[in-house]
Amino acid sequence: MAVIRDVMAPFELLQPTSAADAQRLLEQHGADAWAMAGGLDSFDWLKDRIKKPKVVVDLSGISELKGVRETGDGIEIGAMTTLTQVVNHPIVREKYSLLSQGAELAASPQIRNQGTLGGNVSQDARCWYYRAGWPCYRAGGNICYADTPTGRNREHAILHAERCVAVNPSDSAPALIALDAKFVIRTPKGERVVDAEDYFIGPEIDITRLHILKPGDLLTAIRIPASWAGAQFYFEKVRDRNVWDFALLNVASAMVVSGGRIERMRIAVNGAAARPLRLKAVEDAVRGKPPSAETGAMAGRLAVEGAVPLQFNAYKIPLMRNLVKRAIGGVEEAKWAPIGE
Ligand SMILES: Cc1cc2nc3c(=O)[nH]c(=O)nc-3n(C[C@H](O)[C@H](O)[C@H](O)COP(=O)(O)OP(=O)(O)OC[C@H]3O[C@@H](n4cnc5c(N)ncnc54)[C@H](O)[C@@H]3O)c2cc1C
Ligand code: SF4
Repeated sequence: MAVIRDVMAPFELLQPTSAADAQRLLEQHGADAWAMAGGLDSFDWLKDRIKKPKVVVDLSGISELKGVRETGDGIEIGAMTTLTQVVNHPIVREKYSLLSQGAELAASPQIRNQGTLGGNVSQDARCWYYRAGWPCYRAGGNICYADTPTGRNREHAILHAERCVAVNPSDSAPALIALDAKFVIRTPKGERVVDAEDYFIGPEIDITRLHILKPGDLLTAIRIPASWAGAQFYFEKVRDRNVWDFALLNVASAMVVSGGRIERMRIAVNGAAARPLRLKAVEDAVRGKPPSAETGAMAGRLAVEGAVPLQFNAYKIPLMRNLVKRAIGGVEEAKWAPIGE
């Protein structure tokens, strides 16, 4: 069990001013190093003395990692661009508003002012057993405290769980998957560009990480192609309270409709598994169909196929079914009948 003290364990602080230097330092110090972006997730771990890196590589002085740039085919967002800058950027708002909607629903204004897009997609699981330093599977142990008859698992996974049932907490991640974004990573072997959906991994690949970054890797940018610019977007996040709170589930979709039929669509949900899930079967099933409540209902049923609830999170199955339905068929008006009628 974690012992929480006021003072962080000491570490060497390195403050590079270029991405090349930052990656070299991360490579040089390997598993002893910790990349620090906005620090919102990082400081939780360090202050609780649960993670004790020997070296912290502070990325905040690297201007080439900040800002939104137009490219020949869309935009490129530096990994150190804050969520607030992403939300408010005029091109993001005009053409890729799905991302501004998702990012704007993350955390609180203060956290979005400091937290970065790169940090938001690379943040760790929020399972309280793990965050409190319990020696579970994800922490290198051989038990899951959440997946027991009395474990607190209301917020946990309904799909693709394997030993660990924690979920990915990012609100920007499903929006980036729906926008077909590419993640640019500087690795010891050179630059690597991966599809957004391939940046995230589940416990079947590595139970100790939610993403593909290995020691020595630096996420430098996220590219969004123009192919979905101005599409019909839908983002919905369901949380326990409408101030800052992590998602119980969220859904993000981009849809192009022509002649009353869905020409193409990308859709992803987060909060259902250890990685944000692109719903490829749904995308295929709705192609050529009208964006109606019936199509949405069919898609919702398909989306939750194979879902397995834990003791306290069965509500997530109808919730996910309905979020997918609403993303496709729209939100039905609530029908109120006066009391007594
Ligand atoms: C109280 C609270 C509520 C929150 N609520 C939400 C919410 O509702 N929705 C949501 O989506 N998020 C939420 N967050 C997360 C928040 O939005 C931050 O984005 C997130 O914590 C990390 O961003 P950061 O820039 O502070 O990164 P850091 O905390 O510095 O880094 C996070 C992780 O990513 C790694 N990392 C960061 N950048 C890079 C890089 N360029 N290359 C390699 N590795 C990197 C770090 O090593 C670290 O492991 C919340 C956070 C807090 C503290
Ligand atoms: S759900 Fe994952 S992070 Fe939480 S206790 Fe189980 S193994 Fe650990």
